[in-house]
Amino acid sequence: MRRFAGDHLLIATHNRGKMEEMEALLAPYGIRVTSAADHGLPEPEETGTTFVENARIKAHAAAQTTGLPALSDDSGIEIDALDGAPGVYTADWAETPQGRDFVMAMRKTHDLLEAKGAPFPRTARFCCTLVLAWPDGHDEVFPGVMDGQIVWPMRGDQGHGYDPIFQPTGHDVTFGEMDRWEKNKISHRAKAVEKLRQVLGG
Ligand code: IMP
Repeated sequence: MRRFAGDHLLIATHNRGKMEEMEALLAPYGIRVTSAADHGLPEPEETGTTFVENARIKAHAAAQTTGLPALSDDSGIEIDALDGAPGVYTADWAETPQGRDFVMAMRKTHDLLEAKGAPFPRTARFCCTLVLAWPDGHDEVFPGVMDGQIVWPMRGDQGHGYDPIFQPTGHDVTFGEMDRWEKNKISHRAKAVEKLRQVLGG
């Protein structure tokens, strides 16, 4: 496994919620982070059908363009009663002509579960795949998963994306009701960062 020896990492995301979580998760390692937006990078098309494929597309595009090692995050929620949907299409479900609308996406998720008469608990998992890519084309992959269930109505205004309808296993609050510190101890992203630690020397 190749180690990362620098003190600056480009996070290949335009998603502010993910960026803020990555900043907090990497702070203990003394690593300064900048985002794809800071470097004026375009958002590459996510043409993969798996989290790792899409994470590779984003990390390699950023590393090639900037000549810097780049860390990407591809993530999403898999709902068992919907045969794993929305999965890699989690962000797409929120697309509207005016931009992303996650309240609409959460409502759609709930409506589909109701239409199917899905039994309770409506089990689901948040998945996160981190890819660290170097400009020479090498990469390392770090997956993380958090199990839980979909709840309704939405609860909490913390976090981002689908956080208000995801209640992680072992907790009676949603990600949307947890403060960032609490979520960052247990989330799919935290688990992937825990694995990334091996290459950061932590
Ligand atoms: P992508 O990785 O850019 O394709 O987007 C993944 C989507 O999954 C995000 O836009 C969020 O809607 C959702 N997502 C990923 N991680 C989280 C999380 O920690 N909380 C809530 N939603 C998330």
